[in-house]
Amino acid sequence: MTDSAPEAVNPVVPRPQTPHRDLLQLEVLPDEAQLRADIERLRKERNAVIIAHNYQRPEVQEIADFVGDSLGLSRQAAKTDADVIVFAGVHFMAETAAILNPEKTVLLPDLRAGCSLADTVTAQGIRDWKAQNPGGLVVTYVNTTADVKAESDYCVTSGNAVQVVQSLPEGVPVLFAPDRFLAAHVIRETGRAMDVWDGACHVHEAIRPEDVQGQQAAYPDAELLIHPECGCSSRILGAIPELQLYSTEGMIHRAKASPAQAFIVVTETGMVTRLEHDVPDKTFIPVSRTACCEYMKMITLENIRDALVNLEPRVTVPADIRALALKPIERMLAIG
Ligand code: SF4
Repeated sequence: MTDSAPEAVNPVVPRPQTPHRDLLQLEVLPDEAQLRADIERLRKERNAVIIAHNYQRPEVQEIADFVGDSLGLSRQAAKTDADVIVFAGVHFMAETAAILNPEKTVLLPDLRAGCSLADTVTAQGIRDWKAQNPGGLVVTYVNTTADVKAESDYCVTSGNAVQVVQSLPEGVPVLFAPDRFLAAHVIRETGRAMDVWDGACHVHEAIRPEDVQGQQAAYPDAELLIHPECGCSSRILGAIPELQLYSTEGMIHRAKASPAQAFIVVTETGMVTRLEHDVPDKTFIPVSRTACCEYMKMITLENIRDALVNLEPRVTVPADIRALALKPIERMLAIG
């Protein structure tokens, strides 16, 4: 035995100098009230308008000057006197706004916000299709890129596709792109034979008849509001031929007019937010919580604020493409 002091068992470990938050690479969550106040101030300073699609996040729909479908948003973009348009939607929508407003600054707060349906067709694909069908009229859904629109005779939305096809001269081949489910709806409603592009949106295509039937069993008194882009629509119509399909704006009119108190909303989940806002005394049930467009949800209060600060990211369309794409868009706005 010795008198010496006992050896320290654990050597003293120096404390890390880096703050814990940085070690974990966490970001401070933005204060939502502050974000809203910043957006409010910047919107005035920039003379900006914020337009949001029905499928946007609830908080984005809340701060928007206008919320609507593709046709409604195109109309707002065409008539705004703002200097800056912040497009809370996806890339092809911002392009349409830029085509209608070449002198304005059009911002898309996250350039990754694309569209799986628009990605199914290219301008070269349409050129080849036209070469195989000489004299055909090309009708494209608004969910297409500017260079595809530049190859088109007419643009349509789900709100006016039937009216546009009804207005076409008889005896002319019609080439309809890119959504095959919307095309099936138009053929049913108009009786017009059309050549159809084999495209679909991954969100709407994934909605199955079983999803609809499951919600009908859970909410037997609820009325169905089905969008014509949905993969389930043809099979449901096979079972219930008298069923109506509705564009997103059509859903709002129907929910107001119907005696039903509850509705199963068969489209992207964001539409439930819009319906709850516009028809607050009724109940809206999403067909499936997974019917959610990740592209639409890329737009946030934070990136809207940043876009207004930086006036970036901008969406522009080359002048030659714009000149060609304007005509089918103007035809779309004139009909329906
Ligand atoms: S819901 Fe479908 S069609 Fe609409 S933006 Fe998303 S991917 Fe495109």
